[in-house]
Amino acid sequence: MIHIRDIHKSYITGENRLHVLKGIDLDIAEGEMISIMGASGSGKSTLLNILGILDNYDKGEYSLNGSKIFNLNEKKAARLRNQMLGFVFQSFNLISFKNAMENVALPLYYQKIGRKKRNLIAMEYLDRLGLKDWAFHLPSELSGGQKQRIAIARALITKPKVILADEPTGALDSVTSMEMMDLFEEINNSGITVVIVTHEHDISARTHRIIHITDGMITDIIKN
Ligand code: ADP
Ligand code: MG
Repeated sequence: MIHIRDIHKSYITGENRLHVLKGIDLDIAEGEMISIMGASGSGKSTLLNILGILDNYDKGEYSLNGSKIFNLNEKKAARLRNQMLGFVFQSFNLISFKNAMENVALPLYYQKIGRKKRNLIAMEYLDRLGLKDWAFHLPSELSGGQKQRIAIARALITKPKVILADEPTGALDSVTSMEMMDLFEEINNSGITVVIVTHEHDISARTHRIIHITDGMITDIIKN
């Protein structure tokens, strides 16, 4: 599903060039669930953003489900993201003035699906995640775990092939984190490839493979 070869990425700020990814090779099979671990600043989010076509890389190769990804224009990148990818973030990234249903429905707005239809589909996803009764509540009225479920419903609504999650349990207590992992397992069992960046060993222990990144390089791969 994902093949990357010798990916390099630097950030340039003023006179300084920060070499963040220093030759990453990684293959992720369709249906796999992997975790990426590493110290803060080691390049995990940078790698995930490249996988998510949210950012470009300087050198190397990336192919996603057979499509070569390099320097795509924003329109093409957006189309591929919409067709292929779902994102989950530590801070949920919900829109504060929209209710749960509207947040879940949002990706369908970008697919030009009418309001009535997209809200109906959003309700199905809320129901599946046990949040139907919370459909008309604002994010501020929900717990962290509920907010992350809303974010996951929003990620699933476009039927992605890959879910990319950047520290999805970073803001949740340990019980809620394990519930979130149950959910990711369920999602993975439905055939969706799952990539989770995490700091937590009890999270990574529940994935098929743990990719360790140190200072922009893969230093270890552990099969569970
Ligand atoms: P991690 O997710 O592993 O904590 P990141 O990939 O976010 O690490 O960041 C890796 C390094 O790149 C850090 O030193 C960070 O400060 C730097 N960095 C991240 N994003 C940017 C950016 N947009 N501009 C400049 N430097 C950045
Ligand atoms: Mg990060």
